[in-house]
Order: sequence, then structure tokens, then C-alpha cells
Amino acid sequence: MAGPVSKKILLVGASGRMGLAITRAAAESRQLRIVAAVDRPDDGVRPPVQGRDLGTLAGLAPLGVAVGADLDAALAGAAGNGETPDVMIDFSSPASTAAHLAACARAHVAALVGTTGLGADAEAAAQSAAARVPVLIAANTSVGVTLLAELVRAAARALPAEFDIEILDAHHRAKVDAPSGTALALGRAAAEGRGIDHDAARLPIDRNGPRREGGIGYSVVRAGDIVGEHEVVFAAAGERVVLGHIATDRTIFARGALRAADWLAIQSPGRYSMVDFLGLKTAV
Ligand code: NAD
Repeated sequence: MAGPVSKKILLVGASGRMGLAITRAAAESRQLRIVAAVDRPDDGVRPPVQGRDLGTLAGLAPLGVAVGADLDAALAGAAGNGETPDVMIDFSSPASTAAHLAACARAHVAALVGTTGLGADAEAAAQSAAARVPVLIAANTSVGVTLLAELVRAAARALPAEFDIEILDAHHRAKVDAPSGTALALGRAAAEGRGIDHDAARLPIDRNGPRREGGIGYSVVRAGDIVGEHEVVFAAAGERVVLGHIATDRTIFARGALRAADWLAIQSPGRYSMVDFLGLKTAV
């Protein structure tokens, strides 16, 4: 449950699709306030955002928070509206996630990362940051997908190995990573449920010929403005079990991230997931 004191948010990737969705969702929240916003320096390609008011960029009334480029200054309360943040919410780019986590650890600010396509450097930085601050990394911050992952884990545990596991994801044409971070998280949940090693079982996307027995396969659609659709298919001879989730509005990720950030800001240092936040572990 949300605490009585309103939490102060530093938003990274503030002028992106998710950053602006979070800004709009935060405007409706009593528990959370955005006090600083960071996006990368203007690249001369997109419309400039540096120095612009985040509220105005999101189509709202001005927030009194100008978008800046200096994460350390924002963490120290020397940017945005001048308040020190309680929690960073990062929906930016995987290349800089490790550096963002290290900066949060130095500044003693909790870190929620929704950025996907993270590499080993981000995982290592998360482990080390978690010794000093609470860290939550979630490839999908919607409540529905968090539940779906737990259902997939339970189905994979219950169904015999003759059920092939195939994960389908569909997203808009601008999405960078494939399969999606959510698809991979669902694949890992299935592997855990079945008690197998995900990376060893993972099949290449562009495979030919008959399916390898016991493999976990991925199929990807990238087209138009699809917000995010995931399906996990357990297929055996004569029957299929299909579990899925369809996002029609990225507000669900924004609201989930804000609720999780509200919770994360008052946790002890350590690693957390959306499942910890929602308390779903006991559901299966
Ligand atoms: P986007 O490209 O619209 O926005 C990303 C923003 O981050 C851009 O404004 C960009 O300039 C900024 N940025 C990039 N590098 C930066 C840096 N080093 N410092 C500060 N800002 C930086 O992308 P998007 O659709 O908003 O998605 C952002 C990320 O969130 C992607 O990795 C995406 O896969 C992920 N995502 C996660 C969820 C979830 O539920 N966890 C949902 C949707 C998207």
C-alpha cells in the first residue's frame, strides 16, 4: 500500500513514449510527484527537449520541471525543481542503464528500471547497486503481464515435457529489441517452471527444419502501432494451452511503474521484482 508521504520521482528517458506516459499518469497521482527529468542531449534530429518543461512536453499544464541532461545533478537535487528524488524511474536505453544504476547507488536513490534489452553490464551494476539501494528491474511493469508470468510458470510446471513451448510477441514498428524483454521474461518463467536451463533451451528465431525437442521458441511481429501483445503456447499432439496478454494502451506500464516505484522507495536495499511488489509468489 502507498505510504502517506508523497514520493519524489526522477524520470530518465523523460521525453520518450514511456516517459511522457509516466508524466501523464503521475499527474493523476496523489502519492507521487516528478521532481526532475533527464533525457539525453538533443541530437539535432528530433525536436529539442533540453530545458523544456516536462508537463508542457506531455501536453499538460507546466510542471516546473525542465528536462535536463545531467543525471548526477538531478540525483543530488541540483536540477528539476530543486528537490532531491526518492526514486529514479528509467525507461531509456539499455546502453546507459549500468551507468544509471551506479549513479543511483552513489546518490543513495532507489532505482526502478523498465528499460529492456539489458546486457550483462546492467545485471552486474544492478547486483552491486542493490547492496546500497533498493533496485527493481522489470521488462514489463503491467500487473497483467506480471500475473501472466506466474501463470506460465505454473503451467510449465504442470504440463509434461512433450508440450512444446512457443512465445509470440507483437509490437510497434519502432521497437528496437526482438524478442521483447517481456517475451524473454515469459520464456525464463516457463523454463523455471519446467526446471530446465532457458539459454540452453532457447531456439533461434530464424530456425529452419523440424523443431528441436524441449526447445523454447520465439516468434516476433513488428508492425504499425501495436502497443504490446504476448502469447505463450504449450502445444502437444492433439491439444494446445494458450496463455496471453494484450496491452492496448501504454498507460498500464506507466501506472504499474509508478505504483511499484511508490512501494520500492521505502524498501531496504536489495533486488526486487514486480512479483515481490504485487505479492504474487504465494499465488502458485
Ligand atoms: P523511446 O525511444 O520513445 O524513449 C526513450 C527515451 O530515452 C528517448 O527520449 C531517449 O532520448 C531517451 N534516452 C536514451 N538514452 C538516454 C540516456 N542515456 N539518458 C537519458 N535519456 C536517454 O522508447 P520507449 O518506447 O519510451 O521505451 C523506452 C524503453 O522502455 C525501451 O527499452 C522499451 O523496450 C522499454 N519499455 C518497457 C516497458 C515496461 O513495461 N517495462 C514498457 C514499454 C517500453
